[in-house]
Amino acid sequence: MYGDDIASVLISEDQIAEKIDEIADLVAKRYPAGAPEGDLLLVGVLKGAIFFMTDLAKRLQIPTQMEFMAVSSYGSSTSSSGVVRIMKDLDKDIAGRNVLIVEDIIDSGLTLSWLLRNLKSRNPASLEVVTLLRKPDALRTQVDVMHVGFDIPNEFVVGYGLDYAERYRDLPYIGTLDPKVYGGK
Ligand code: 5GP
Ligand code: MG
Ligand code: MG
Repeated sequence: MYGDDIASVLISEDQIAEKIDEIADLVAKRYPAGAPEGDLLLVGVLKGAIFFMTDLAKRLQIPTQMEFMAVSSYGSSTSSSGVVRIMKDLDKDIAGRNVLIVEDIIDSGLTLSWLLRNLKSRNPASLEVVTLLRKPDALRTQVDVMHVGFDIPNEFVVGYGLDYAERYRDLPYIGTLDPKVYGGK
C-alpha cells in the first residue's frame, strides 16, 4: 500500500503477535492481580507504542489501567539528541502505583533514560519498562529493561506504530524503509 517504500519485512504480523503473547505471560507473572498498589498502570509512550500498548493490554490476563504520555526528543527525524520535552503529560498521579512503561523502540536509550528519571521522581511503587524493539546502540546507555521483544539491526524501521514523517504507522508489520524515502541512496 506504500508502493516500494518498504524495502523488506523485518518482523511479520504473526511474529509480533507471538512475541506479545510471550511478553504478556511474563508481565502477568511479575504483577499478580490483587496487589495492594492496585491495578498495574501501563504508561504508553505516544505515538509509536500505540499498537504494542493496546495489543499487550488485550492479551494480559490481569486488570490494567492505561495512561499515555507524549514526549518529543530534539534531533533529526531519524536520530534523537536526548533533550526531551513533554508534549502530553500523564493525566493521573502515579505515586504508590506499579508502573510499566510501554515503549516502541530503544535506539540510543536517551529518551527512555530521561523518561525513567522523570517518572521515578513522582514516586511510583515500582517502575519497569517493556519495549517491543531494541537497537544495538541501546547497549551503550545503561537502561534497565524488563523485557525486550526483538533486538534488531541498526536500521531505520517503520510500521506497527513507528513512523517516518508521520507515515507508515498503520502497517501491521515492521519493515525497513527504503533509504530513497528519506533521501539516502
Ligand atoms: P532514542 O532516544 O532511544 O535514541 O530514540 C527513541 C525514539 O526514536 C523512539 O521512540 C522513536 O520515536 C525514534 N526511533 C528510533 N529508532 C527508530 C526507528 O528505527 N524507526 C522509527 N520510526 N523511529 C525510531
Ligand atoms: Mg518511543
Ligand atoms: Mg517518530
